Amino acid sequence: MARIFNFSAGPSMLPEAVLLRAREELPDWHSTGMSIMEMSHRGKDFVAVAEKSEADLRELLAIPANYKVLFLQGGATGQFAAVPMNLLRGRSKACYVNTGLWSEKAIAEAERYCSVTVAASSKESGFVTIPDRADWRIDQDAAYLHYTANETIGGVEFQDIPDSAGLPLVCDMSSNILSRPLDVTRFGLIYAGAQKNMGPSGIVVVIVRDDLIGQARDDTPSIFNYKKQADSGSMLNTPPTYNWYLLGLVLEWLKEQGGLAAVEARNIRKAEKLYAAIDRSALYSNPVDPAYRSRMNVPFRLAKTDLEKTFLAEARAAGLVNLEGHRSVGGFRASIYNAMPEEGVDALIEFMREFERKYG
Ligand code: PLP
Repeated sequence: MARIFNFSAGPSMLPEAVLLRAREELPDWHSTGMSIMEMSHRGKDFVAVAEKSEADLRELLAIPANYKVLFLQGGATGQFAAVPMNLLRGRSKACYVNTGLWSEKAIAEAERYCSVTVAASSKESGFVTIPDRADWRIDQDAAYLHYTANETIGGVEFQDIPDSAGLPLVCDMSSNILSRPLDVTRFGLIYAGAQKNMGPSGIVVVIVRDDLIGQARDDTPSIFNYKKQADSGSMLNTPPTYNWYLLGLVLEWLKEQGGLAAVEARNIRKAEKLYAAIDRSALYSNPVDPAYRSRMNVPFRLAKTDLEKTFLAEARAAGLVNLEGHRSVGGFRASIYNAMPEEGVDALIEFMREFERKYG
């Protein structure tokens, strides 16, 4: 069966070249007579794969030497807890920006460990924008400032890095990491689940500045303790080796694409044409403030809601799948991460245009 265009928000489409390479290497990895997933994580072959993935990530994001790169489990949701457990460093408060449902989940989890002050919230607006920076109230007693770079459900994305008023800046980059070049030095900590832009689910990357680790709460589980994980090369216990290997293949693919500047240029083109198609139509609409529209997740609605089922069925028949919006908000959402080819976005635009001509 030919591959179709999969607009899922995550787990999401992976580059076809990565899948083909993984298949080719599957039964007999580099003439070892076994697959990479059957090897000891401490053996020299897997350790080389792990080290290469870290080196490639450091190269792609220009991660300075005074940051640790960790490959962990428990997803971004695990990090919602691990961040306060490790970063409070004796303080009782953390400060969060609330721009959508993922911010809210991060806040709810942090509240189990500390008191959370919200620097700014766009809840009143229905999470369709990012609060004006002039109105942010950053609590100087907080241990860090946390924000969500891209709200996967609402389709709202920061287009630059906010100022944290001297606090360590912590960011959930699950749904836009590696989609554009990044100045890592602005951050105290970055975390991202892999299953959107980096690989399959089951592995989460943490990039953390050296001076912020080593002061975790005493009751922090060892597998969530950044210092212990850093000291053991993210191998305090058995890591998800196959997922880690696949993540490494995605990083190699990104380098082959020309790195993040080239990937960003393509992402801008894809997003701009999809939003333009939505904006010039009378049938489709996107509610997000144009200044903060996500390049990764494009939610849209139909003016005629009775057409929703037909839209999905006909899209599926045209090879365009997983366009349903998140269950909490409904409507539609096209997730167009790095691995979505430009032809996929062109096919979606063409389908939407034709659907509107037929039913609009
Ligand atoms: N943060 C964001 C922005 C997300 O989109 C997701 C989606 O899955 C999560 C956190 C949760 O990630 P996980 O399922 O890996 O815990």
